[in-house]
Amino acid sequence: MKMSTAISSVGDLLAALVRIPSVNPEGDPGTAAENCGEQRVAEFVGNYLQELGAAVRYEEVEPGRPNVIAAFPGGDGKPAVLLGPHLDTVGVGGMSIAPFGGERRDGRIYGRGACDTKGTMAAMLWALRGLGTERIAALDIGVTFVGFMGEETGQPGSRHFAKKPFCEKPPGRIRLRPNRRADQLRHRPQTQGHALAGNHSAGSSRARLDPGARR
Ligand SMILES: [Zn+2]
Repeated sequence: MKMSTAISSVGDLLAALVRIPSVNPEGDPGTAAENCGEQRVAEFVGNYLQELGAAVRYEEVEPGRPNVIAAFPGGDGKPAVLLGPHLDTVGVGGMSIAPFGGERRDGRIYGRGACDTKGTMAAMLWALRGLGTERIAALDIGVTFVGFMGEETGQPGSRHFAKKPFCEKPPGRIRLRPNRRADQLRHRPQTQGHALAGNHSAGSSRARLDPGARR
């Protein structure tokens, strides 16, 4: 069975992502080396998107630390939108729960990255799965997903990606940023760039404009 079919809910998808350690190796030194680096989670995400019909490639920004880039068909000549979460997490020092357990309790999923940004990533991947390749291809915009490495320290992944022209027109980028509430479960969208805001970069959306961002 395809991985994307075997995972039957966005919660299961998030738990699966949390269970793949991807701690940024330049961050908290309290994390075992085998739990560091983005390779495994990049491959998981890449395989998932390939099964959905995207053309997937990896760009190894640093050894064992790739960006994963997935372009959906049908985007040629259209304005582009970039879905850009990050693959890495901060360290696990001092955590009082299993950092890579993906435990589900009282309607919540626990673990490192469950919020920042594997929650975001799961939501994006699930939305793409829900739309499906044909409907994505029929959109007025081209859709590309990039999972960035190294975003928690210095952003080498997004810097690497930004060096090359991505498409004819500068893309809009959608990030979903966790808000600062410790108990928050939701993300707010942040749009940047041209496709979504004429020729001006767009600022962040404000949480108060997004009822889903607050409980
Ligand atoms: Zn983050």
